[in-house]
Amino acid sequence: MNTCMKEIAMKMKRAIIHIDEEACDGCGKCVSFCVEGDLKIVDGKLRLNAEKYCDGCGACVPKCSLGALKIEERDADEYQELVYVRC
Ligand code: SF4
Ligand code: SF4
Repeated sequence: MNTCMKEIAMKMKRAIIHIDEEACDGCGKCVSFCVEGDLKIVDGKLRLNAEKYCDGCGACVPKCSLGALKIEERDADEYQELVYVRC
């Protein structure tokens, strides 16, 4: 029998970033302010790398002068802290 490792994301209600795609012009100014490194620009719009890496800290919110970012409470993948290892 073959076995494989599969990551199962648990959903839970918690604080997480909301990106207003209509308002975002893709300037990228907020990206470097994410302490989790979870923001990126894709096709001219801001995106999360993964819900699970956003801890809802809100550090990116005031960096957007267009008001495209806010913290909301909703069902999202459980937060998972990124661990950096020296290699
Ligand atoms: S709320 Fe915090 S963790 Fe989430 S995207 Fe913004 S800076 Fe990153
Ligand atoms: S600063 Fe605002 S407009 Fe610029 S990429 Fe971030 S969310 Fe989009």
